[in-house]
Amino acid sequence: MTHMIFAANWKMHVGADSARAFVEQFLSKHRPLEDRDVWFFPSAVALEAVARSTDGRREITVGVQNVHWEPKGAFTGELSVSMAAESGARAALVGHSERRHVFGETDEETGRKVKALLEGGLIPMLCVGETIDQREGGETLSVVERQLGVLGSLHTEELRHVVIAYEPVWAIGTGSTATPADAAEVHAHIRGWLTDRGLERGVCRILYGGSVKLNNIRTLVSEPEIDGVLVGGASLDPLSWAAMTQTPID
Ligand code: PEP
Repeated sequence: MTHMIFAANWKMHVGADSARAFVEQFLSKHRPLEDRDVWFFPSAVALEAVARSTDGRREITVGVQNVHWEPKGAFTGELSVSMAAESGARAALVGHSERRHVFGETDEETGRKVKALLEGGLIPMLCVGETIDQREGGETLSVVERQLGVLGSLHTEELRHVVIAYEPVWAIGTGSTATPADAAEVHAHIRGWLTDRGLERGVCRILYGGSVKLNNIRTLVSEPEIDGVLVGGASLDPLSWAAMTQTPID
């Protein structure tokens, strides 16, 4: 069975000490469920703390929020794939809207990161999504398709290791969420793009992200096209995050 993914993106919150305390509280309420995995994307400085405090929990994966594509060198402030792996990362976010829109990262850079991650044995979680102007201009599917283009040169075998998160930019941190039906339309389009490249249905997991909270998560994860969620703000409270990761699926 393909597991659903409930992923927490802590962004620039939660240092190493706070992360240890978070995990302790989270685990006190957490019960593993066989249909899902829980992923954490802490800050780079808290990566090792989260990896160590969840060690031995097969249902928990720890990832890094960003990597550089070069293996090493004079790149002050950057983190290589192997450095992230050494600190316990098994996955990485790539193409998050804050990387694209705040830090100006391009599709080309995103593509290089995807390649470097796959070569280094980490799972890229590629984030795609349109701005409000693009949605209102009817460009949602074409924008998402352009962003998926960074996977275009991958072999089917490599594509199997990629996770995709559809995160409409207008829904991130705003309190506005796509309806399950809106998300399903885009997810179905992404799935079609993947099957056109030889991937069987159900191999790649496609998550939804954008203002997912305790009060709306159930309808989203109960939508069959949605294979999990990527959660920012609402993943910062350990007890509420524990409750979200236990959400029943209808
Ligand atoms: C995110 O950071 O990927 C995200 C979806 O944030 P939020 O849940 O706060 O909208």
